[in-house]
Amino acid sequence: MPTAATPLTEVLGGRTAKALDTSLGLRTVGDLLRHYPRRYAERGELTDLAHLRLGDDVTVLAQVMRVSRRPMRQRRGTILEAIVGDGRGTLKLTFFNQAWRERELVVGRRGLFAGKVTAFNRTRQLIGPEYKILGVADDEEVEDFAGGLIPVYPASGAVPTWVIARCVKLVLEIAELPPDPLPADLRERYRLVGLDTALRGIHRPADYAALSAARTRLKWDEALPLQAVLAQRRRAAAARPAIPRKARVDGLLVAFDARLPFTLTAGQREIGELLAAELDSPHPMHRLLQGEVGSGKTVCALRAMLQVVDAGGQAALLAPTEVLAGQHARSLRSLLGPLGRAGELDAADQATGVALLTGSLPAGARREALADTASGAAGIVVGTHALLSEGVEFADLGLVVVDEQHRFGVEQRDALRSKGDPPPHVLVMTATPIPRTVAMTVYGDLETSALRELPGGRSSISTIVVPAGEKPAWLERVWRRIREEVAAGHQGYVVCPRIGDAAAAGEDADEPSDVDGEEEDGGMARRPPLAVLDVAPGLAEGPLADLRLGVLHGRLPADEKDAAMRGFAAGQVDVLVATTVVEVGVDVPNATVMVVLDADRFGVSQLHQLRGRVGRGSAPGLCLLVTDSPPDTPARQRLDAVASTLDGFELAELDLEQRREGQVLGEAQSGRSSFTLLSLARDRTLITEAREEATALVDADPHLARHPGLAAEVGALVERERADFLEKA
Ligand code: ADP
Ligand code: MG
Repeated sequence: MPTAATPLTEVLGGRTAKALDTSLGLRTVGDLLRHYPRRYAERGELTDLAHLRLGDDVTVLAQVMRVSRRPMRQRRGTILEAIVGDGRGTLKLTFFNQAWRERELVVGRRGLFAGKVTAFNRTRQLIGPEYKILGVADDEEVEDFAGGLIPVYPASGAVPTWVIARCVKLVLEIAELPPDPLPADLRERYRLVGLDTALRGIHRPADYAALSAARTRLKWDEALPLQAVLAQRRRAAAARPAIPRKARVDGLLVAFDARLPFTLTAGQREIGELLAAELDSPHPMHRLLQGEVGSGKTVCALRAMLQVVDAGGQAALLAPTEVLAGQHARSLRSLLGPLGRAGELDAADQATGVALLTGSLPAGARREALADTASGAAGIVVGTHALLSEGVEFADLGLVVVDEQHRFGVEQRDALRSKGDPPPHVLVMTATPIPRTVAMTVYGDLETSALRELPGGRSSISTIVVPAGEKPAWLERVWRRIREEVAAGHQGYVVCPRIGDAAAAGEDADEPSDVDGEEEDGGMARRPPLAVLDVAPGLAEGPLADLRLGVLHGRLPADEKDAAMRGFAAGQVDVLVATTVVEVGVDVPNATVMVVLDADRFGVSQLHQLRGRVGRGSAPGLCLLVTDSPPDTPARQRLDAVASTLDGFELAELDLEQRREGQVLGEAQSGRSSFTLLSLARDRTLITEAREEATALVDADPHLARHPGLAAEVGALVERERADFLEKA
């Protein structure tokens, strides 16, 4: 009896098996059974032909309306044309030298027609389509589509959907299915159908109820093994040894708290206690801390670092860019005051040193920083991610804090863990709120916490969408608002999607926008997004001529970037024209206005992140989102949503709904399984339940010895991930 592992070549005809392999990558019985229909055509209901787009590979259910045959003009032979319709629109089918098809394409019959949509004289047509006429008294076929729902598979020219359906039917009849990966009691509790019923239900549903039961059950097949892998991984990580770094009652941390000019928020205190306890554990901390820009994460991280320093260890803070590393070093030094100036005249008694280690450091300074890091004189070392890969020597690295998680993937996290012996504690910080389902899957191997409240006394940010397309005069008001803010002693940003003047295309954005433009404009060419290098001179000669302008983007050499930032922070520059480099961590409280040009080119979270740069001081912030997108387009709705709320977690959920699943998964997660049925945006409850169940299963039975079906799926998943990883490396 064939099993899931049996090659299709042993079960199907050689030609079909080969076509399934080369065009769809399906090699085994299991592959085929997990190749689910994309949608279902309803027997009584014809496909809406108005929605077919040129170039699409389609399978439509339609009725034959007219058939005609005529000789070809230039050559010998005949052209057979059939018009099929859905009751409203029509589609032409064209066959060359296949007059015999007239016998099959009988007017009034319905069939499935598959091919690529092309146009000829403004008529949409399929040339030489594959087809399957329905309802003809032919035994096999009647049996094939017995149910009311006809599966339509992701197909290809070489294997049309009905051939796939026939292969699946055959395989379902003869193959022995693997043991059900879902434990029986779990199935019972969630009222899930068995694997066999589910596979039949998704491939050959009797009705919508059967289909829905099948889909729910098969979503568990995607969620549970992944959650089990993650649970095993968390368990293994928690079992590793680490050096406990106990808090001291007379150390730096206590001295630091005593000189803090503000009181910690309830959230900061709560997270502080959690981190203190985890650092004091003989197993490594491995935690993700989310919190809006300005929610006070840095203070939390610094307090954790001080606890480690108090215990005789060192802490490293890693930033995604040199600019940010420089900024972090400055802000840590200023928060610490005399506590961070070890070796200097005005240092406090217990003081430690803060070293900045970046590639652009002058040789002498670098040597000194390296020496302080190796000797332990620097209790805190700030740098970019290169800090760890360059093999910088630490006296005793006890804690690594990583800022801005979304640029830091799974492999880097793994590399980090292998850094010390025993590995250091790890705290990852992100200012991008992560939707719960993403946290549970993409970041599922980390424990997560969030700072949800902003420290009190922060002024508010108003956000306004400026429809430059409809109301060009508004743009003039935008520049006037900037001049007003500057006249009042404040500063501002102008953010553009692009740097401009790129020698090489593709290098032009500091961070590629996460918005898929093509979908929204139907593939029409758009003007390129506005660029810093065009906008800055335009403003300097035009509407902002009397102001001091600066430029900041990712292609500037590190020292110029740093100089630009410093000039802006020192108030020597009124308006900074920049790319999204300002998104990450730039902190100038005197900046009160931000203009985002071509705002529709940015994603929801990105815009939210950007506007966090204004309103950081005592004056209210203003964010102007300038766009050409017409009202009622998805792009415009996205901007309206950003303008309507300041809750980053709410916007993150919205962002998730609007972006394609693959983008979300692909971003931070490499090699992890992708989902077919499961949706991070729509299956929150199921994913949460699967996580709880998986954790309980793994806690009770770490190797899943009592659940061979699940253990096999887990093994396959780990194997796939390893293969992907090797492929990449
Ligand atoms: P994040 O790193 O989350 O963006 P920071 O830790 O940099 O936030 O804090 C932003 C600003 O708020 C800093 O100037 C910081 O000193 C200040 N801050 C942090 N916690 C508090 C608090 N509890 N009360 C008042 N101000 C605070
Ligand atoms: Mg910060």
